[in-house]
Order: sequence, then C-alpha cells, then structure tokens
Amino acid sequence: MKKFITFEGIDGSGKSTVSKRVYEELKRRGYSAIYTFEPTDGEIGKCTKKCIDKGADPLVIALLFIADRIEHVRKIKKWLEEGHIVLCDRYVDSTYAYQSVQLEGQMEDPLEWLRQLSNFVIKPDRTFLFDIDPEEAISRIKGRKTTRFENAEFLKKVRKRYIDIATESRFKILDARKGIEDLVKECVKDIMENDGD
Ligand code: ADP
Ligand code: MG
Repeated sequence: MKKFITFEGIDGSGKSTVSKRVYEELKRRGYSAIYTFEPTDGEIGKCTKKCIDKGADPLVIALLFIADRIEHVRKIKKWLEEGHIVLCDRYVDSTYAYQSVQLEGQMEDPLEWLRQLSNFVIKPDRTFLFDIDPEEAISRIKGRKTTRFENAEFLKKVRKRYIDIATESRFKILDARKGIEDLVKECVKDIMENDGD
C-alpha cells in the first residue's frame, strides 16, 4: 500500500475532483487518510496566491512556493509518522513544471535550480500525472476565477515539461479525458498495490 500520494497536472486536468473522490473512497474502505494541497492555506500559501494574482516576479513566486512547502513537508512527515495515508493536490512537481517554464530566460537551468532548492522534500510513493490537452482543460474551467497561469500557450509548455520530468518510477501518467469514476478506480487500485520500488 502506498502512503504518500501526489496529484499533478495542468489547471482543469481534474486533480482536485479526482483526489477528493479518492480520499472519500479510502475513508469509505476504513483507511485513515488526509487530504491536503498546495499552495496551502497557511500564511505563506495565502501570500503565494496573492502574489500570483498581482503578477509578482516569477523568482519571488518560485521562492514562496518553496517556502510554503518547507512548512507543509513538516506536517506531511508528522501525518505519515502517525500512520495516515496522505493525498496531496499539487506538490513539488508543480513547482518544477510551472516555475521552470516561468523562469526560462532568467537563468541558465531553472529546473536544476529548483531541484537544488527542493532537497528537503519527501518523495511521494506515487505521483499521478493528469495529462490532457490544455484547450480541453481550459474549456472545463471556463467561468471559474482564472489565474495568470491559465492560458493555453503557457499550459502547453507546462504540460510538456510535466511529461519531461515524469521519468522516475513514482510517476503514473493518466489519460485525464477518461471519466471521473474510472480515474478514481485507477488511482485507488494503484494505491492499494505494493510500493513496487
Ligand atoms: P484541477 O484541480 O486539475 O484544476 P478540477 O478537479 O478542478 O481540476 O476540475 C476542473 C473541472 O473539470 C471541474 O468542473 C470538474 O468537475 C471537471 N472535471 C474534472 N475531471 C473531469 C473528467 N475526468 N471528465 C470531465 N470533467 C472533469
Ligand atoms: Mg484544483
């Protein structure tokens, strides 16, 4: 059984919908699970969201995401030690994908820089990557308050970056066009299986 599971993908790919359903399903089966997300609703997470909204410098945004995660990882460690399954809606790979695209041109190798600043993270046992065409994802979230990240051209680059970074065996790439319940089943089945590695 996997204990620390993260959900990744572009905006509108279905991460929140599916991860919340997976959480309910695990609870229904009697497991003690915790649903959490990034940016968090703590001080730094709230500040991160505000800074994204006002269009702050990408370097500031990247460092805020990382600062928020430093606090979050402490909590995640504690929950795991207490024996809970932790489901996390966005985590370090969001920073790798979004911020490495945002920081292109500002430094030589943004992804490498972000990785170096992320050596404190705990590795998920499984990362579900919700893969979908940005046009389709955006059409799903029309009407929702959008952030500056939610334009097709930018999200195309982010989608590609996600695929590029999904090389470790902890990644499982899901076809996010499938039905919600099919995706939930796929995730739950995978979580119940052995760690694999
Ligand atoms: P994310 O958290 O990745 O931004 P959401 O879970 O908020 O995406 O989903 C965005 C919208 O798409 C919601 O209205 C949700 O109901 C819908 N949705 C999510 N997953 C699917 C799916 N597999 N098929 C069709 N619609 C979906
Ligand atoms: Mg979401």
